[in-house]
Amino acid sequence: MNNSVTVENKLVDLKAILPEKRILMGPGPSNVSARVLAASAMATIGHLDPAFLALMEEIKTGLRYAFQTKNTLTFPVSAPGSAGMETCFTNLVEKGDKVIVAHNGVFGKRMCENVERLGGELVEVAFAWGEAVEPAKVEQALTAHPDAKILAFVHAETSTGVLSDAAALCALAAKHDCLSLVDTVTSLGGVPVNVDAWGADAVYSGTQKCLSSMPGISPVSFSSKAAAVIKARKTPVASWFLDLSLVMNYWEAGAGGARVYHHTAPVNAMYGLYESLRSLQEEGLTAAHARHAHMHIGLTAGLKALGLTLPVAAQIRLPQLNVVSIPEGIKDTDIRRYLLKNFNLEIGAGLGPYAGKTWRIGLMGNSATRENVTLCLAALGDALNTHGFKCDTGKALSAALTALKYSETNE
Ligand SMILES: *Cc1c(COP(=O)(O)O)cnc(C)c1O
Repeated sequence: MNNSVTVENKLVDLKAILPEKRILMGPGPSNVSARVLAASAMATIGHLDPAFLALMEEIKTGLRYAFQTKNTLTFPVSAPGSAGMETCFTNLVEKGDKVIVAHNGVFGKRMCENVERLGGELVEVAFAWGEAVEPAKVEQALTAHPDAKILAFVHAETSTGVLSDAAALCALAAKHDCLSLVDTVTSLGGVPVNVDAWGADAVYSGTQKCLSSMPGISPVSFSSKAAAVIKARKTPVASWFLDLSLVMNYWEAGAGGARVYHHTAPVNAMYGLYESLRSLQEEGLTAAHARHAHMHIGLTAGLKALGLTLPVAAQIRLPQLNVVSIPEGIKDTDIRRYLLKNFNLEIGAGLGPYAGKTWRIGLMGNSATRENVTLCLAALGDALNTHGFKCDTGKALSAALTALKYSETNE
């Protein structure tokens, strides 16, 4: 008997599988620029090559700018945002530690799961979908649980498109002698993330949202206070791969400047991250935030003119992630399929209780452009009209362009 595996289907050229292009206006990934793609196509070198070690230092410098921090312990985890989350929790939480998680959507609930799986004592402070994490209610929990070690929350909740007040929440944590652990996956690069000014102790992010690099890497940063807590752990970190005491032998030079192999870094994806950080530096954080805010103003003006409603209150809306209610009688998948097929345009579906009821339109990083705002409104108008929801696409475009002009001249 022949046990060899024969070719059942000959693998075809990638071009036969992948579309030539997509305009990515969902919850991530966002469009990766030609310069970042080109950077990632440079020759693969060894992860311990002196040239790569030099690049690692540059990436850490670029990340410190993006996070607005002087934290030495700032580096990219070689795995997606979810691994950044696990890095923070698994290194900081020991069995029996009390952790307050203030949550208002899918990603906050994932934090709860992390705490439970690590044997921590979870205290949930739950907020309704579409609401921000409210500092006053969090302070009640901090007062009721003076033994809590960590306060965790999501800065920009991608499932609902809501921004919470990270500065206020981190300050409360510090006031109650608690470490703050913040998800900045969707916020970094899109709205201000000021790790040092907030006094945040552990933050994680992702490369594929507003940094517009390829998916698969998670920048993290830890304050010296958090680093000291990790160093003083009584038990070893359960995850070998994410254990900072081991990872940092690779990301930081030890005694005598030596670095030790821990895992093989995704070298080419790191080239991409470097180039996206360089783009961010060139544009400047303030300009990048302003661009996201402007495009959001244009998009929302157009969406309203199409007759659509935005369930999140205006003052807590994320510019980079716009949640839109799906009109009565319109089927979510009909529209998203139509946009993909006819316009190469991807928008996001709703999650959890929002599934089938909302779309999530991303304006993240390179995807936050005037061209994308107008294309999205024109395409969505066409899709809705085709499927029986009558709307005036021309009016929507004109509303968006007027709003854009106004917001940009009133900077
Ligand atoms: C996307 C996202 C994550 C997870 O990142 P992955 O790279 O998909 O693992 C975590 N938190 C928030 C708020 C996100 O938007």
